[in-house]
Amino acid sequence: MSLLGPALDHLAYLLFAVATHAAVGYALVVAFTDRPPRAGVVGAVLPDVDLLFPLAWAFPLNHRGLTHTLAFAAAVVALVAAARRPRWSAGAAALGLSSHLLVDSFTKSGVAWLYPLTTERVGVAASIHSGWGAALLWGVVALGIVVGRRSTDATESAGGAVEAEAQDASETPGTPRR
Ligand SMILES: [Zn+2]
Repeated sequence: MSLLGPALDHLAYLLFAVATHAAVGYALVVAFTDRPPRAGVVGAVLPDVDLLFPLAWAFPLNHRGLTHTLAFAAAVVALVAAARRPRWSAGAAALGLSSHLLVDSFTKSGVAWLYPLTTERVGVAASIHSGWGAALLWGVVALGIVVGRRSTDATESAGGAVEAEAQDASETPGTPRR
């Protein structure tokens, strides 16, 4: 059943897929690090920049081509590291980029992980971006965010306690100032 017509359906599918990647990147950084998730989100979305390439372009410059390879991911991470961003942003970008390749491996067309060494596409013929696959993935994302929030809260309150102690220590002794 198509409510919107095939072209709009496809656009909606693509937007949903990109949103899914962003959410996975966000959840991963939040769940496994205590760093801001921005670089993870950008890394997780970046491979789909190939959706903007002209449709006439052929592999490796089509969708799920060059930008969906380990080589591309490594190059981006190296660039981020070279740009002297804080070290964790390269790590977060790596997390996001690899999550994208992994998620897209659960699609019919799969991903040519090792291009240019080989053009062989690796994947499980599933439909991670729609139906049950997407529902499952978003469930895991939600879980990751909840777990990440909890550990951040714990860290923040522990940090807050330490700060308060430090403040007490600096205030207690000494001669009153004039
Ligand atoms: Zn993709």
